[in-house]
Amino acid sequence: MNVGQVLAAARALGVDRLDAQWLLAHHLQCTRAWLLAHEDHGLAPEMARTIGEQLARRAAGEPLAYLLGEREFCGLKLQVSPAVLIPRPETELLVDWATQLLPTAPSAEVVDLGTGSGAIALALAARRPGLAVTATDASDSALAVARGNAQRLGFKIDFALGPWWAPLAGRRFGLALANPPYVAEGDPHLADLVHEPVSALTAGGQGLDELRRIVAGAAAHLQPGAWLLLEHGHDQGPAVREMLKAAGFFLAQTRTDLAGQDRCSGGRMPMFDQELTPEAHG
Ligand code: GLN
Repeated sequence: MNVGQVLAAARALGVDRLDAQWLLAHHLQCTRAWLLAHEDHGLAPEMARTIGEQLARRAAGEPLAYLLGEREFCGLKLQVSPAVLIPRPETELLVDWATQLLPTAPSAEVVDLGTGSGAIALALAARRPGLAVTATDASDSALAVARGNAQRLGFKIDFALGPWWAPLAGRRFGLALANPPYVAEGDPHLADLVHEPVSALTAGGQGLDELRRIVAGAAAHLQPGAWLLLEHGHDQGPAVREMLKAAGFFLAQTRTDLAGQDRCSGGRMPMFDQELTPEAHG
């Protein structure tokens, strides 16, 4: 079998041409441009068989990132497995926002809650050498993926096993971020995401339960003046801002993604203790 025949087989299976090219490029360790000029390049039978199997799995809906075992996020090549959510490009917005806030953060101690593959934690560590990055996750197998990524990329992250703030008793941070599960129960979009860990995608009811847990625990783990930044669904901005305000955060605000959809919200802890009292909100 040659490159052109694989692409034809992919087309017959209904696999996106770009996905088939990425698979080929991955196995042949070449660029997609090279493939275009080498349609008659022959594949070893073993490789052709593997690619054929993967094309069938792709046709059945398995995400390309799991087939390749990797996904790029903020310019970092991360290994991913079905134990972790596949990092999404829109989550880079959360990293960008955090990067802008870091120079004025009360300390260089940052925490990524529910780190999954380690994407957010590693992207921040890569952008700001010297940052002390902590990352938690309730899933042991997710943390194993994150640890592997940290090791491979050469970043030292302080990993802790447990849900959200639970493994961080007595610790306070200068900035906190999370991309928690927020898809509402029964959202039809979930049908497209059956290969990813459901615990990384959905939070019961309106999808706000885990966001609420994170906000509820924040005051005990943030330094005065620290920001909490949360990714959420396109229709959850108002609810998340309300949560933040009710928990004593100031400057609650929402940012939109490249598609113009509400995508993350954040707020800042008061600078002084007296700002924490409800009266101070007026
Ligand atoms: N943004 C993802 C999606 O809708 C969901 C990720 C999440 O729940 N944190 O595909």
